[in-house]
Amino acid sequence: MRGRTAVAAAMAGTLALTAAGCGSSGDSEAAGATPPPAASQAPSTRPAPPPKEPIILAFGGDVHFEGILRPRLNNPRTALGPIAKKLSVADLAMVNLETAITTGGTPAPGKQYTFRAPATALTALKAAGVDVTSMANNHGMDYMESGLRDSLAAIKRAKLPTVGIGRNAAEAYRPYRVTVKGNKLAIVGATQVLDDHLIQAWTATDTKPGLASAKDVPRMVQAVEDASKGSDVVIVHLHWGAELEPCPLPRQKELAEKLIAAGADILVGGHQHILAGGGYMNDAYVHYGMGNFVFYSANGKTAESGVLYLKVEDGKVTKDKWDPAQISGGIPIPLKGAQAKSAVQRWNNLRACTGLDARPTG
Ligand SMILES: [Zn+2]
Repeated sequence: MRGRTAVAAAMAGTLALTAAGCGSSGDSEAAGATPPPAASQAPSTRPAPPPKEPIILAFGGDVHFEGILRPRLNNPRTALGPIAKKLSVADLAMVNLETAITTGGTPAPGKQYTFRAPATALTALKAAGVDVTSMANNHGMDYMESGLRDSLAAIKRAKLPTVGIGRNAAEAYRPYRVTVKGNKLAIVGATQVLDDHLIQAWTATDTKPGLASAKDVPRMVQAVEDASKGSDVVIVHLHWGAELEPCPLPRQKELAEKLIAAGADILVGGHQHILAGGGYMNDAYVHYGMGNFVFYSANGKTAESGVLYLKVEDGKVTKDKWDPAQISGGIPIPLKGAQAKSAVQRWNNLRACTGLDARPTG
């Protein structure tokens, strides 16, 4: 959330902010409206809530700092390269942090790949304009409970809000709440992807630290219902889908329907390592997979990346925009011109197998 004044410029075209016409408080008096008698008899000392302005949210896919990415953390403030500009222009930017934040811990047994990164990873994300991350994914506890304790301590020190992880289930499923330009957001993170042999060890319970699991559907529904209380917009960041599969699994669609019925306005996430489709389910917005974002081994289709911008007005997504990038050297490099145009076309075509609509239909 840096340099947000540039937001209108960055959204040029489809997402250009319109003049919202949110007048100053006291418009009704200026217009000669007579306040109802009750109001004049009981003067309120409570200030009027700030007007809700349209906001732009930005989402990126999977992030870790393995392999060729690790030396980039020697200069964390520039580690994410030119994509930082694309994140910073949004009113709120979020990514999936697909790694433990620790230099110690015990590697999870039976896993081919275990990811960990030093706390400078959080410095790098903050410097790039990331405002919140989810660690509910199939690498968040790669260094088991001691790695998780280090992660939580690093998150606290870095003051980078992180969802989907906690010292117990209440904490892991609890939303991050923030008010942006008068819009009360509640952001929940959870994973539908866990290695079978680690489900028990990694899922947070009332007495055990861990991740928020979206496999526990009633618990997810409850989390979304709780998040929707006192908020204008409920965002659920989900780690979901099958690797290298561009179309949603039945369990993704079922979960999307249930969470939207419970009050979710935006569902975003990924895990596929390639791009999947997104669009509207009635008046809610769903994105099934944003692909890799900061990822060491990306090439070919797994190097297709980008930033998903969503414009939110009065609690609902009214516009989406895909700003494509190509991962090179582990980091997403924004595409321009004809390359960008064809990437956006491919991205739009991914919607075909999702059952989602290109425009809100609610
Ligand atoms: Zn994953």
